[in-house]
Amino acid sequence: MRAQQFNSTSAPIFLLPIQIEIVAEKNQMINFEEEMAKTKRETTKMKVGDKSAPASQKLKREKSQTLKREKTGTTMKTSKPKVPKSVSQENDLVTDVHLVPAKIAHEMMDKICALYPDADCELDFANPFQLLTAVILSAQTTDAQVNKVTPMLFKRFPNAKALAEAPLDDIKEIIRPTGYYNAKAQNIQRCAQALVEKFKGEVPRTLEELTSLPGVGRKTANVVLGVAYGVPGWTVDTHVQRLSARLGLSRNVDPYKIELDLQKLFPSRDWSKLSITLIWHGRRLCYARKPECEKCPINQLCPSSRVP
Ligand code: SF4
Repeated sequence: MRAQQFNSTSAPIFLLPIQIEIVAEKNQMINFEEEMAKTKRETTKMKVGDKSAPASQKLKREKSQTLKREKTGTTMKTSKPKVPKSVSQENDLVTDVHLVPAKIAHEMMDKICALYPDADCELDFANPFQLLTAVILSAQTTDAQVNKVTPMLFKRFPNAKALAEAPLDDIKEIIRPTGYYNAKAQNIQRCAQALVEKFKGEVPRTLEELTSLPGVGRKTANVVLGVAYGVPGWTVDTHVQRLSARLGLSRNVDPYKIELDLQKLFPSRDWSKLSITLIWHGRRLCYARKPECEKCPINQLCPSSRVP
């Protein structure tokens, strides 16, 4: 099943890391980060437990280190907090970004657009409600993974009312493969309940109304507005965040500030199209770890190009 358009041109979907850390969607969303942090804490605990020496040995080692320090008069080393070298904490800017003139920015985007003339939303959906639900589910996973679970989910619960009244455990079971399924199940159900209570089961058409829904932040709202309703907007996901810095379009780290920089650089009619095109480029060539600059059509313009 392919994404159906709703008075729209096209738009995006997203995900994950770079040196500038990612930002979670929104306060009201049941926090995926909490779950991730919990998992990490548990993993770390296990690792430490595996490798650590018996307590008596540790105590012995600490005592001997203290004695040594007292003898030599040295002080204990304290570890500094890790800060990405290129990010200035004071003003939240990436300091090694080389901003490009607007003319070069437009030239680069033209070339990237030419490379992906079919760039479009990669989530499967049949209406705005399904798109909104799929976008919420796409947090911390791939669109392909979401597309595997949504046919069953929407077959069982085809609209906001059905999802709002569904047994939570049934939702969890269906969406389990997308990860963080406890939080996600609650989010999509609360969102569906809010749609029923506040918007008669329909997905609203404004950023303000959309972001009033549980689990819906600017990123999700902009995807829905652009893809389902053709309302222009920048979706600043991890790819757009990374590429904005690499291409010299923004020195900001905060997604909202990046969004404002990109809004100034490009005409509003192109925002949704350019968002999804940057996302495609980030997914297909300009990878977070090893960008394939040799194959990139803008390797002679891009300030981060590894091609001489
Ligand atoms: S030249 Fe390299 S860093 Fe620049 S956009 Fe292309 S792949 Fe990314």
